[in-house]
Amino acid sequence: MNILVINAGSSSLKYQLYEISTETVLAKGRVERIGMDSSILTHEVDGQPEVKEVSEILDHTTAIKKVLDMLTHRKVGVLSNITDIKGVGHRVVHGGESFSESVLIDQQVKLEIRKLFDLAPLHNPAHMMGIAAVEANLPDVPQTVVFDTAFHQTMPKMTYMYAIPKVLYRKHKIRKYGFHGTSHDYVSKRAAEFLGRPLRELKLISCHIGNGASCTAIMDGKSFDTSMGMTPLEGLMMGTRSGDLDPAVVPFTINKEDLTLNEVNSMLNKHSGLLAVSGISSDMREVVEAMNEGDANAKLAFDMYAYRIRKYIGAYAAAMNGLDAIIFTAGVGENSDVLRKAICEQLTFFGVQLDEARNSVRSPEPRRITTDESKVEVLVVPTNEELLIARDTYTIVKELQRN
Ligand code: AMP
Repeated sequence: MNILVINAGSSSLKYQLYEISTETVLAKGRVERIGMDSSILTHEVDGQPEVKEVSEILDHTTAIKKVLDMLTHRKVGVLSNITDIKGVGHRVVHGGESFSESVLIDQQVKLEIRKLFDLAPLHNPAHMMGIAAVEANLPDVPQTVVFDTAFHQTMPKMTYMYAIPKVLYRKHKIRKYGFHGTSHDYVSKRAAEFLGRPLRELKLISCHIGNGASCTAIMDGKSFDTSMGMTPLEGLMMGTRSGDLDPAVVPFTINKEDLTLNEVNSMLNKHSGLLAVSGISSDMREVVEAMNEGDANAKLAFDMYAYRIRKYIGAYAAAMNGLDAIIFTAGVGENSDVLRKAICEQLTFFGVQLDEARNSVRSPEPRRITTDESKVEVLVVPTNEELLIARDTYTIVKELQRN
């Protein structure tokens, strides 16, 4: 069965087409600069040269139409007919408290996603455009949504409530939701498989360290606590986000710098983190390069970034009263042996023994980077959010076909 996975942003859209019985990616690609006259569609099929097409794509409906044309293209396509697509899965960032698992899209689900626009103003409206665009092009194909927040709906109240007046939770649902749930869910399952132990018996800390970054404490196979909050701004230091800081910094900065609330919000989300501290880049590769050339700001940025991850690992080991394994995943977590080393070298006191040779190996497969004697295991597990979305979509479509 072929399942199409869509991740729609406001001016871009990524896609992957899966043959789900073998979990093979038949084709993948992206449309960038939607709404502009020179939009770019990039289409990739394993073993074939990448195809790039520049044209005017003014909206998401046209973007999906172009993607479907590409997937069924005589030369570079992989399907003979679009009716070969049996389900479409969408990534949706915010599911609020309404969704604790992936669901089939119907009118009610769309209404709920719209209600959450306030909580995810940059993401949820764009996802809805993606959903409407697929509906317009493939009206008879079942669509599902897989939420970034759903995995964290198992967090106990003690971990998700903020210590502020309760009326704010009652009226506006202000609380911690957590993000990257699809990734934390996927890598924790892969880690349990790799370790050959039942997930429900493990205490894990999953570190999704990409451009955005979050740590999750996973007990009984469930999210117990996570570092991102009501929005993805809380927690770790990230590429351009500040992560944790004293909330009093916001009114203070507004007063002292004569900035608006929106300007400070934008500063904390887009102009902080690695970028601000290093003064060089939000990309860890460039920061490490500058650090190796002796740049003091790059070194400070790297040290702060690693320190904060270590602090969360320590906090979550205490929160769970134990720890079996730490998982590193996403762009930085999977690729930066330097960062993993900086973190793990300072975790020896609770039983992490890094194996430097293992740490420097690169592989698309899950792997252990600690010694065989290490009390706590550290794993690198490449994430695959699209595969989890495709699997969930398949489960829902199969159920639908059965009824
Ligand atoms: P993601 O958000 O998971 O796609 O991760 C993207 C980030 O991964 C980029 O911004 C880079 O900072 C980082 N990255 C990718 N490759 C490497 C690498 N070899 N070393 C360090 N960081 C990397």
